Amino acid sequence: MIKTILILCFFILSQSSYAFPINDLKPGGIATINVAPITQHKPRVSFETKPVALVKGKHNWLAIVGIPLSATAGFHKVKIVDEKKQTHYKSFRVRNYHYRTQRLRISNKNKVNPNKKSRARIQRESRLKQKLQNTFTPHQAHLNFMRPVSGRDSGRFGLKRILNKQKRNPHSGMDIAAPLGRSVKATETGTVLYTGNLFFTGNVVYLNHGNGLISLYAHLSKINVKKGQNIKRGQLIGKVGSTGRVTGPHLHWSVYLNGNTVDPALFLRKKHTKANPIKK
Ligand SMILES: [Zn+2]
Repeated sequence: MIKTILILCFFILSQSSYAFPINDLKPGGIATINVAPITQHKPRVSFETKPVALVKGKHNWLAIVGIPLSATAGFHKVKIVDEKKQTHYKSFRVRNYHYRTQRLRISNKNKVNPNKKSRARIQRESRLKQKLQNTFTPHQAHLNFMRPVSGRDSGRFGLKRILNKQKRNPHSGMDIAAPLGRSVKATETGTVLYTGNLFFTGNVVYLNHGNGLISLYAHLSKINVKKGQNIKRGQLIGKVGSTGRVTGPHLHWSVYLNGNTVDPALFLRKKHTKANPIKK
């Protein structure tokens, strides 16, 4: 009898509790917006012309919008096309946020001031990275993220970067310091979008979690998965390394939403919201 009740409770919990990232309206943050009542058909939502992830909340369709790091403070809006093909807009306000500065010394000077050959490679790879991070597949996004490796946080998302006394792009992910060879696990269920070796990020794995949600694992010493492979949450995908532009072994972990790199920490400090069961 008790066993039956326990199983029933577990069933109800697993069907009604759904993890969302923390709403944080800062540059590089996430805006969760009610876009239509659940009684209506799924609307189409876009932000800055790109499609946006949509999930079913308890009462509403929720858009999970990745805010670019370059976003200015103030009002921004999403475009909503409803079931009657009518267009309307919803706005949200991005707050001012000050990211700290990090100064690093990189011993491989070509990784800071690349030569002509390296610059050509960087350009090619930049186009590839844009394509990968803008991948949008229609299936429901998997949002219940876990930390991909244990270790100390050694570089937060968004830090303004000074490398060998020169200004560079802000930090596009979270760094986790861990010994060479430690297992790196998939943060959520997904499909391998790309594996390879890139100039700055070294050996990488990109995972597609659906609806424009992508995760990247960089500087790996070993890659254990292949392109197109279906991966379960927590599955081994590679080993911590120091390939690419690094000061030592660590995992660089990035998360992309509607093409924008967002703060991965927002997916770990998640809240559980009662939502309708996800239809597969
Ligand atoms: Zn990093």
